[in-house]
This record gives sequence, C-alpha cells and structure tokens, in this order.
Amino acid sequence: MTSSTTHETEPTAESDLDSALVTARRQLERAAAHVDVDPGVIERLKHPTRVSQVSVPLEREDGSVDVFTGYRAQHDDVRGPYKGGLRYHPEVNAEECIGLSMWMTWKCAVMDLPFGGGKGGISVDPKSLTDGETERLTRRFAEELRDDVGPTKDVPAPDMGTDAQTMAWFMDAYSMQQGETIPGVVTGKPPVVGGSYGREEAPGRSTAIATREAIDYEDRNVSDTTVAVQGFGSVGANAARLLEDWGATVVAVSDVNGAIHDPAGLDTHDVPTHDEEPEAVLEQDAPETISNEDVLELDVDVLIPAAVGNVITADNADAVEADIVVEGANGPTTFAADTILEERDVTVIPDILANAGGVTVSYFEWLQDINRRQWTLDEVNAELEDKMLAAWADIREEVEKQNLTWRDAAYVVALSRIAEAKAKRGLWP
Ligand code: GLU
Repeated sequence: MTSSTTHETEPTAESDLDSALVTARRQLERAAAHVDVDPGVIERLKHPTRVSQVSVPLEREDGSVDVFTGYRAQHDDVRGPYKGGLRYHPEVNAEECIGLSMWMTWKCAVMDLPFGGGKGGISVDPKSLTDGETERLTRRFAEELRDDVGPTKDVPAPDMGTDAQTMAWFMDAYSMQQGETIPGVVTGKPPVVGGSYGREEAPGRSTAIATREAIDYEDRNVSDTTVAVQGFGSVGANAARLLEDWGATVVAVSDVNGAIHDPAGLDTHDVPTHDEEPEAVLEQDAPETISNEDVLELDVDVLIPAAVGNVITADNADAVEADIVVEGANGPTTFAADTILEERDVTVIPDILANAGGVTVSYFEWLQDINRRQWTLDEVNAELEDKMLAAWADIREEVEKQNLTWRDAAYVVALSRIAEAKAKRGLWP
C-alpha cells in the first residue's frame, strides 16, 4: 500500500482537458466560496485518505503472463464506508482514481447516503481480454485489495468496463478467501447473488428523473422536448428510453463509432444497448448518421452526454445549442467549458446528481445484503424517486437562495453535510 500522494497536473496552454483530479479540486475551490466551511476541512478534502497501487498478474490463454497495475483511491469516509466503482480502461491511473473518488464523496453526500467516496480500477483494455482472462484478473485484483475493502470499509461497484458479472467474481473471490459469503462487499451484482433489482438501470433512471425535473423547473413539458444522447450504455440507453416513454422526442443516440439522427424521433427501444449488442447503433435504420462530436452541437432542448469524460470543452462549449445539459457521464464538462455554458445561460445538471441513481441503488443493495431481504423492483424505483426528489429540492433551495449554478449548489449541499460531520467527529488525534 502506498501512502496518499497528490499528483497535480496543470493543464497545458493549448488544452483544457484537465485530469479528473484537477477538475475536482477546482470545482471544490469554486464551491467553497459559497459555503461557510472551516478552510481546514476544504484543505483535507483536496487530498485522498489513501491510495493503494497493486500489481495484478494474469495468465493469458496462451500460458504467458502479463502484469497489470490496479488502484483503489479512498478519498473520505467521514460519513461512512468508502463507496465507488472499479473501472477497467487503458487510461486508469492513480490521479484519475483520486479525482473520481472525490466526485463519489460529493455524490454520496448530495444524495444523503451514509457513504464516503472511493474509486479504483485496472489500467487495461477490457476488449483485449477473453472472459476467462477477465475473470482471473478480477479474482486476483479482489485478492490484492482484500485488506482495503469490506462491507463496512470500502464497497466497490461497476464502472466503465466492468459489470454485474465482474462484481459477482469479485464478491466470490473475496468471500472464498474470507471463508464465508459476504455479498455486501460489492454492489451492482446480479440479483441472484445479492444484487438489487433496478441497479443496472438506476444511473439512467436518475439521469431521466433529473432531466424531467430540469424541464419542469423551466416550465416546459417533457412531451415538447427534444433530446440528444451521447453514449448508449446503461446510462445513455436507459435515460433515452425512459424519456421517450415519458413523451420526449429523442432525436439522436450514439456509441463510440458515431450517432444516428432523426429529427422526427428515434424508437430508442429498438436500438440495442451496449450490453445487448456492443457498438450496433450505426447499424440501425435512421435518416442520417452523424459523428459523436456533432451530437453535442445538435439544436435540441436537452443534451445528455452519457459516455466518457471531457467531451464538452472550451473548444466546443460555444457550439452547444441545447438549453439544458444533463451530465449522465462522470465529468463530461471541463472546468473551462462549464464557465462558458454558465455565461451562455445553459443549465447544467451535474453528474453528482444526475447519475447518482447508480450509487443510490447500490446503497439499497447494500441494505438488502445486510438485512438479507430482497426488495421488489417497484420498491427500489419508488425509493430512488424519493431520494432524487429530496436531493433535487435541497439543491434547488441553494440555487434560489444564493443564485448559484446547479453544480455549485450541489457542491454546497454536499460540502455542508461533510463539513458538519467532520465538525461533530473532530480531527483525531
Ligand atoms: N460507478 C458508479 C458511479 O460513478 C456507481 C458507484 C457505486 O455504485 O458505488 O457513480
């Protein structure tokens, strides 16, 4: 285990594609100005509690061995166990995990969940692995992280490049070594092994709920709204389908290869999600195919970036035509782009609220595991709706009281809760 270090990267002059850590720290500093918090708390929150770096050896199908690097950043646990996903992606590194773990701390606080923030992953291209290799890699990663994680310590979940099966292998490896089945060590598992109904669709559902509330707040109707969605994984696809079910016209959806566009509206239930059939969006019938960049600049009411981070930048923020941007992905808007959108009066509903359905239903899953009682899908969705509306109301109060952006207001809500918890617990020793 390595001690926590900060790996600060300044943005280059030509680009505003900051690392997640740089963006997370800037957002924290900006929001700190609007909340009466001890500066010592803000300073502590700029640094993770701990970052583990592990080597994960993998026997390939041909018998050779490759060694991958895995990470787990644990940002803050003042309100409860660290919580957040495990990402399998070639660009995973310590700095990215720290930044993403900070966002998890705010996300859990904004939703008033009894968790702190964590994030981890392995620097690997998951597409280059067979299923057997992914299983072996995951089991060994679980073993390397065994001392760090646990239902009351740190509870991982799926993120980019991992899914319910990955979590089942992680839970099994951990449980075998501990000598008992411990479903609460990870969330996002298949329902048959302690997973929650509705968990997979939850980040898309919360993105759709946040979109609906934002439309309503601006005195418009969902049925008069056009929507473009970048990314057709669990977040983008579920958000698009729900919004269509609620009457919106979804004019574009995309995957990594590009987008289909129909101004009259697509039937999003006919487009296979990434899980159903990877990278099949362009194979669907539509009047027009456009690029992923073009999706961001379509003349729509609502834009939902639900793929990767840093897609709305200083270079294209001026070209965003949507009135409302709902962040389905984590960190899709750079710090500089956020300022441009604010100046242009574009409403940005931040990731820490919009996609927070994922971690919220993870919390429900953790409760179900601990209590050994499975909830029905209706119970899960009703509780998620309540949690989203409560968070929306708390954030809206700050938006109106202090005339803040939705992001700053969400940070104020989160920071106030974290700061109060830190004040009550005190700094030890
Ligand atoms: N990876 C998801 C996120 O970024 C979910 C985390 C969780 O459920 O713990 O919010």
